[in-house]
Amino acid sequence: MQIHIFSLTCAELAAELNRRYGKGHYHARALCREIFKAGTTAFASAPEFVRSPSLTLQLCRDVCLPSCRIVEQIEDGVLKFASALDDGHLIESVIIPSHDRTTLCVSSQAGCRMACSFCTTGAMGFIRNLSVEEIVWQVYAARFLLSHRVDNIVFMGMGEPLDNLDNVVQALRVISDQRGLDIPLSHITLSTAGHADGLARLAALNLTRLRLAVSLNAADDVLRSSLMPINNKYPLSRLRQELLSFPLCKGGIIFVEYVLLAGINDSLEHARSLARFLDGLPVRVNVIAYNGDGSTVYGTPPPEQVRQFCSWLAGEKIFVRARQSRGQSIMAACGQLGASLCADAQRGDRSCPDHPCNLL
Ligand code: SF4
Repeated sequence: MQIHIFSLTCAELAAELNRRYGKGHYHARALCREIFKAGTTAFASAPEFVRSPSLTLQLCRDVCLPSCRIVEQIEDGVLKFASALDDGHLIESVIIPSHDRTTLCVSSQAGCRMACSFCTTGAMGFIRNLSVEEIVWQVYAARFLLSHRVDNIVFMGMGEPLDNLDNVVQALRVISDQRGLDIPLSHITLSTAGHADGLARLAALNLTRLRLAVSLNAADDVLRSSLMPINNKYPLSRLRQELLSFPLCKGGIIFVEYVLLAGINDSLEHARSLARFLDGLPVRVNVIAYNGDGSTVYGTPPPEQVRQFCSWLAGEKIFVRARQSRGQSIMAACGQLGASLCADAQRGDRSCPDHPCNLL
């Protein structure tokens, strides 16, 4: 059995080294330092390993690094990169620099089974969950292979993170490990389409520093179910119940993402129903005008409609911001990941799922 080092915290690695070779924290810390702090996989030349040649031989044999590789990069203000997994499937991640920090948007699944009607990834259908190391690898790749600082992470790429909760939670542990990549939970946002069972399980873990975002997009069940089939399984009343009991740190808030679709969910009545749903919840609402790529029936609302929608909410004393979604030109904006993968697959260049997006 190999040691999948991208799946382990430093403490877990130390326990594994102890179990296998009678070694412990000293070598585990050196391994984590070389790989996750220095970004080198040639750990054998580090002093701790030069002094322990037989252990080093065993580690070179047993330590397993992810076999993902970057196969494409496209840059236009943001940098989108596609990674090939060891079974040939592809995922996308996006590096979003701003004036004082850089955010990495990571994928948690190849494809997605949630089938949101406005989302390109949803149209791909579900391929499979990403392993812990495949999630962590995206952070490593952004930082060390593409040489970008990564201050914040958002789980808003391909997939519903709460549909792959066990692997996502272990990835959070590894990414936030101070002896490793050291990105604190308070800088990580997990975004869900409203997977209420997953929210309940996540709440039980009491990760109060983790930031939570909910992609809402409508606050009445009929409309929301038509946009997001997950609402059939977890209607708004259940979702609200989970949000009300979700553990937050003192002063903590839940981010609510609302993609405005022209003529669909952008009226005063929709804003009123959203305000009713949010009543009593500690939230900040991010309103994002839909990024039309021509692959769906939806249109982008005019800027005046976005402004009015936001001011209606603000008038209800809701903290709201109109957010610019960056990366439209390279299909890296919200809801656009996977478009290039599907297009290539249709041309026969790449793998893409057979599955229809009908699983909920
Ligand atoms: S919006 Fe998120 S949950 Fe919905 S289909 Fe797209 S990736 Fe999946």
